[in-house]
Amino acid sequence: MSMATEKFIQCSACGNEFSFSVEEQEFYQSRGFQDPRKCKPCRDAAKASRGGGGGGRGFSRGGGGGGYGGQRQMYPATCSSCGIQTQVPFQPNGSKPVYCRDCYQSSY
Ligand SMILES: [Zn+2]
Ligand SMILES: [Zn+2]
Repeated sequence: MSMATEKFIQCSACGNEFSFSVEEQEFYQSRGFQDPRKCKPCRDAAKASRGGGGGGRGFSRGGGGGGYGGQRQMYPATCSSCGIQTQVPFQPNGSKPVYCRDCYQSSY
């Protein structure tokens, strides 16, 4: 009953075809699992988003090249030191001086 061949399954999440190796098939069968429907990156992502402690070593470099991060709200401001227009990641309330990046760095 052992048909020891690698299977190729299309991921139900990202649509990529991934290999389901003989060892994995045996592992799944020994545990009574169904064949996986998602590729490993998608399964790992689902696991991670489920909030499990993980234990994985940060192997989450999705090759998508998407635009995560960097979407923080910026507020226009005028630098108190040199007077140029700049943007700061907080709402200037007038009680504190606001510095552009250059002046901020040179103030330290
Ligand atoms: Zn996938
Ligand atoms: Zn400045």
